Amino acid sequence: MNDNNDIIRILLVEDNPADARLIKEYFGELRETPFLVSEAECIASAVDHVAERHFDVILLDLSLPDSQGMETIHRMHVHAPGIPLVVLTGLDDDELALSAMRHGAQDYLVKGTFDIQLLVRAIRYTIERRRSEAEIKKLAYYDILTGLPNRVLFTDRLKQAIVMAERDRRDTALLFLDLDRFKNVNDSIGHAYGDRLLKITADRIQHCLRSSDTVARIGGDEFVVILPLISGADDVSKVASKILESLNKPVRLEEHEIYSSASIGISVFPDDGSTVDDLLKNADIALYQAKERGRNNFQFFSKEMNVQALTRQLLESSMRQAIARNEFYLVYQPQFDIGNRALVGLEALIRWQHPQKGNIYPLHFIAIAEETGMIIPIGEWVLRTACHQARSWHDEGYPFLRVAVNISARQFKQDNFVSLVKSILDESGLPPGYLELELTESTIMERADKNVQTLLELKKLGVTLAIDDFGTGYSSLSYLKHFPIDRLKIDRSFLRDLALGSDDAAIAEAIIVMAHSLNLDVVAEGVELEEQLDFLHSHKCDTLQGFLMSHPLSVNDVSVLLGRAADSP
Ligand code: C2E
Ligand code: MG
Ligand code: MG
Repeated sequence: MNDNNDIIRILLVEDNPADARLIKEYFGELRETPFLVSEAECIASAVDHVAERHFDVILLDLSLPDSQGMETIHRMHVHAPGIPLVVLTGLDDDELALSAMRHGAQDYLVKGTFDIQLLVRAIRYTIERRRSEAEIKKLAYYDILTGLPNRVLFTDRLKQAIVMAERDRRDTALLFLDLDRFKNVNDSIGHAYGDRLLKITADRIQHCLRSSDTVARIGGDEFVVILPLISGADDVSKVASKILESLNKPVRLEEHEIYSSASIGISVFPDDGSTVDDLLKNADIALYQAKERGRNNFQFFSKEMNVQALTRQLLESSMRQAIARNEFYLVYQPQFDIGNRALVGLEALIRWQHPQKGNIYPLHFIAIAEETGMIIPIGEWVLRTACHQARSWHDEGYPFLRVAVNISARQFKQDNFVSLVKSILDESGLPPGYLELELTESTIMERADKNVQTLLELKKLGVTLAIDDFGTGYSSLSYLKHFPIDRLKIDRSFLRDLALGSDDAAIAEAIIVMAHSLNLDVVAEGVELEEQLDFLHSHKCDTLQGFLMSHPLSVNDVSVLLGRAADSP
């Protein structure tokens, strides 16, 4: 606060020479005086003094030749906003003193009633108080980790920038930046390194900016940059590229070399919004797009993005009510034995009958449901509905048939997943052997060791397990042996191009051979053509599922199919 820790600089603003002399005499009494007193007799002169040098405290008489009462405090504040004030009043006037404190004075002294001890104490106390106020302000407005402005200060700065841009009829840009895969750093080498990476990121961003720009940290790995009064999109692109480039350099932290990168979304005032909230929201939408486009790039907000985001938002909010409103239903796609073409199973597939949008396929909402966590209640609904349906077909007199249900990673990871499956089996009365759970490779591989446990518990219940979309993930074959799996479903992308000698044909063939060597059944998904059928036949695939045999069917159509199967010899 003061230039030299030992010396306290005081500005005494006092027009009465006798009063001024008295105070100076007080300071003179101190043997080793740490106080350096400068004098001013009016506000104008005081203003000149504070413009010239720093003071630690101002002793201020309220009635001066060029200013009276609270006006004096106000004017001093405007010109020396950071310097604490101790007011000197001539009268023993409590009202006036109180009012002075309300107007921002730190303390007051009544002339003729204080001695040097009291004066020194008031000064020290005042300085200390201002220091802790500044500390509190720092905590309130700055991010402790990086020292950058926090969200509160950022909001304030952006508001100011908007006012200025409006006045000058200029554009102001907002960059919303997020580190790519920052969570991985925290998870793999620890939070201490994550914190250091954030600090380095803060420094690097700052080095790309001018002093009039603001960079703030507003969340874990989220930074925002305000570029005030830009002259065009080119300006902004240059800064964004520069930031990306500097963040792209690997960071060395002891034995760890971290390859970091970032994505940036940009919104521009006034085109993309005229308030802090709108600009932030739209920059965030643009950031989302940048991530979608493979990260490590920047995107300007566009109105079309807004439409996409809105659609998503609408879908998200209507999804929350969809279960209660009975808008989901299941269709069942039959699976056939490749040898005798007998019906051997059904895969339950979800559909959403949306009140406004009509029928929506899982491709358009399962990912959102996974991100938002809605997949948990939805998945539970699917499992329950499929088990009850399988049971009621039996109750109608048809033999039991295996029903396969898709399980998303998030469901599978739930602590209570196994007990949920058990209780649904119990309540529906479906013998466990007729329920098959379809899991994807990535679901199983993510925490392979832990998952083996869960899979074993599921097997103990008596259900069967299949790996869905096999070949699209990167299963470690050695691991596959350890998983208690019953079936592999070859992803339909491998069947698409089965012309002789193609890579896909070789892969499909290898999968079948490998699966059989591990005693696994193989289901081919997405069989659409006779040629595919021939290929699968000659390579001894076990089960077929695809439009060539049957599209997914409604509950009623399945009943018809079951009836026919029962009639056939
Ligand atoms: P999936 O589990 O691989 O399901 C097979 C998908 O392939 C189904 O699409 C099915 O209609 C489609 N299909 C079947 N035969 C053919 C064919 O011959 N040609 C073509 N082009 N497609 C065929 P659908 O119903 O749109 O489901 C897509 C994906 O959504 C499913 O892929 C599954 O991953 C997911 N999904 C569906 N229902 C659920 C559910 O209840 N829970 C979860 N978590 N995911 C589900
Ligand atoms: Mg499936
Ligand atoms: Mg599949």
